[in-house]
Formats: sequence, C-alpha cells, structure tokens
Amino acid sequence: MADQQALDEVVEYTSGLIRIDTTNRGGGDCQERPAAEYAAERLAGAGLEPLLLERTPGRTNVVARIEGTDPSADALLVHGHLDVVPAEAADWSVHPFSGEVRDGVVWGRGAVDMKNMDAMILAVVRSWAREGVRPRRDLVIAFTADEEASAEDGSGFLADRHPELFEGCTEGISESGAFTFHDGAGRQLYPIAAGERGTGWLKLTARGRAGHGSKVNRENAVTRLAAAVTRIGEHEWPLRLTPTVRAALTELAALYGIEADLTDVDRLLEKLGPAAKLVEATVRNSANPTMLDAGYKLNVVPGEAVAHIDGRYLAGAEEEFRATLDELTGPDVTWEFAHHEVALQAPVDSALFARMRAAVEEFAPEGHVVPYCMSGGTDAKQFSRLGITGYGFAPLKLPEDLDYQALFHGVDERVPVEALHFGVQVLDRFLRTA
Ligand SMILES: [Zn+2]
Repeated sequence: MADQQALDEVVEYTSGLIRIDTTNRGGGDCQERPAAEYAAERLAGAGLEPLLLERTPGRTNVVARIEGTDPSADALLVHGHLDVVPAEAADWSVHPFSGEVRDGVVWGRGAVDMKNMDAMILAVVRSWAREGVRPRRDLVIAFTADEEASAEDGSGFLADRHPELFEGCTEGISESGAFTFHDGAGRQLYPIAAGERGTGWLKLTARGRAGHGSKVNRENAVTRLAAAVTRIGEHEWPLRLTPTVRAALTELAALYGIEADLTDVDRLLEKLGPAAKLVEATVRNSANPTMLDAGYKLNVVPGEAVAHIDGRYLAGAEEEFRATLDELTGPDVTWEFAHHEVALQAPVDSALFARMRAAVEEFAPEGHVVPYCMSGGTDAKQFSRLGITGYGFAPLKLPEDLDYQALFHGVDERVPVEALHFGVQVLDRFLRTA
C-alpha cells in the first residue's frame, strides 16, 4: 500500500503542476520546461537519474528508468504529458492555473488531462524509494511535451531521436482509462483503453473558374467544395468492429444480461443504454467537417475553396477510409492529410490487461472493468513506432455527479482528492505486479 506521504504528495503535485502554466496553443507556443524541472526534481529526490531532453528550447521532456528485479523481463513504459490545452479564465469558477484545493477537490487545467496522472506516477515512485520497493520489470518513466499539438517536440521526438531510452519496452500505460463511468442505474464501470482510432485531419481543396458573381458559373469552387463537404458530413460509415470493440460489446452485454448480437450492433447499443457511450464512437470510422475557407468578396467567385475535416479511422480500416474519401470528394475536389496518425490495437487478453483489471477490482470491488477503444489519440501512437503496445490506464474513482468526459479540455476541470488517492493506490499495486 502507498503510504500517507504518497497520498499527500499526489495532491500537492497535482496542484503544483497545475500552477505551472503549460498551455499548448499549438504552432510551438508552449513552454513545458518549468513543469519538466518540477517533475525531474521529484524523481531525483527518489534516487533516480532523470534526463531532460529537448528538440526545441523550452519544450522539455523527462525520462528516467527504474531497474526491475528481473533482468529478463521486458520493460514497461509509464508516460504522461506535461502540456495542457488553453483555458479562458473568465469562464471558470476558480482561476484555471490556481491549483486550488477546495472542499476536497483540486481545481485547474490539467486536473484530469493529465497532471493528475503525472502526480500519481511521481507519488508512487517516491513512496517506493522510501520503502525500498523495486518493480519486477524495468519501468521507464516519461513526461512529455507537446501531446496536445503535434507531439513533434514530445513523444514523436523521443521515439525518433532517443529510442535507446526505451530499450526493452514492450508495453506502456498512460491517460484515459480506469476512471469510474457511472451508467445512471447504479453500476460503476472502469473502462481500460486497449486501442485508439487513428487520426486523419484532412485538407480539401476545390478548384474552379474564378469570375464575376453575377455571371453563370458551372465551375464554382465554393459550390464544388460545399457539395463534397455535405457528402462527407452525411456519409453513413459502415460498422467495423476491431477486436477491442468486439470485446467491449461482448463484456458489456454480459454485464447487462443482454444477448451480444454483433450482427445488429446499433440495436445492441440501444439496449446498452448510457453504457453505449463507451463504444458508440468506435464502431465505425468518422469524418466531421470542421472548417471552411473560401472567397474574399461577395460578388467575386473565387478560384479555390478549402475545407478541413476531422477524420478518424479504426485499426484495420484506414485503407477503406482513404478510398471512401476519394469517392466522396469526387473529381473536382482534392484531399490530403494535414495530419496523419496511426490507429492502435492492443490485446485485451494480455497478462498486463489482467493485472490492470485486478488492481482496479482490488480497490473498487463494486466496479466492473471493461475494455474500450479511445475515439481519439494519445502519445501512445508515437511510442507504438518503438513496438510499444499502449493501454489507457490512469485510475480515478469518481463520484456520480462529476462528468469526467466533459472535464477533458472543459471548463472547471477538477479532480477530487479521494479520486487521486484511489489512483495512487491502484497504480502502486499495478506497477508492483506488472
Ligand atoms: Zn491528455
């Protein structure tokens, strides 16, 4: 069991990291260094030798290794990002970078995404130093920059330029899993992520004939673009069940005593009620139009019009995604990836998954662990290039009145102290046995 000091430190560190403003506005506008130094100091205090690594000055990553007792065992990567998305202070009940602890709740940007997990990792590692605990496997601890933008200064840089630091790592854990999902009917689920959809951010360009707005124009770029955008936005993507989504549906159906009829998934989702939220965004690819850009004067037809689409595809369904986009855009509109990231698939029948499940169930005996696939992506995508299979495991026990999903990148992001304590205990138990 993690000691009282670890429980105190996880709150202190969550708050302390929130107070260091690491807002990532994209385009390189972020400074993680003070947060990286904060984390590195605490790792050094636990007898580790953290390395500070930068591709760009100020965009600092931290990596440290804890040697395990079994040198033949593969290493496990435990990673968390240090940057956060912007927060508009005027919208918040407390200042988003105050790290205020009020009525048993830590407030601020990063409280759930994911300075909480960074703090949990630090608290656990430090408690091990006090107790003389060594894990079985080598643990590689990484705190990264730039997760909320391109990861080019963060995990992407580490994977490309410092693969030696991750030698022996076969599996990894990070954000977005093992939090309490209340189903509204008294059941508490703990979804652990075993996969991510891939990211395909697209730029569409329509070309046509520029001219006067009062003349006949059958080659209007705006019309062509609008038609393509409408086709994409209205497209009904077919069902594509990955092994993780299949397992999620099967386990949820069993939990609710429903027949797991995978031939009629939409009906099955309906029967699952609120729990369907955990799966519904990952049973098919998706493509949402999000930005339009065309024209400069009302009575001038522009020669070109541009749109952006937020596309996501499941593991094994990327080729189909590309082919479908070719078809939907048609001959007058071209498309390209503005940003492209792979989809991930992790096995749910692995020993590691069983250990994560056991650790959660030990501290939340009333909870039900289920696998799920993330609809978006994390640093695990970059680390997958090193052959590391990523899971989403950042345990939090949350009260029913806290809408965890809405707190991600949301206003009044906050985390209860008790949730952090639970997280430390579960993470400690899991990492000892992993
Ligand atoms: Zn995150």
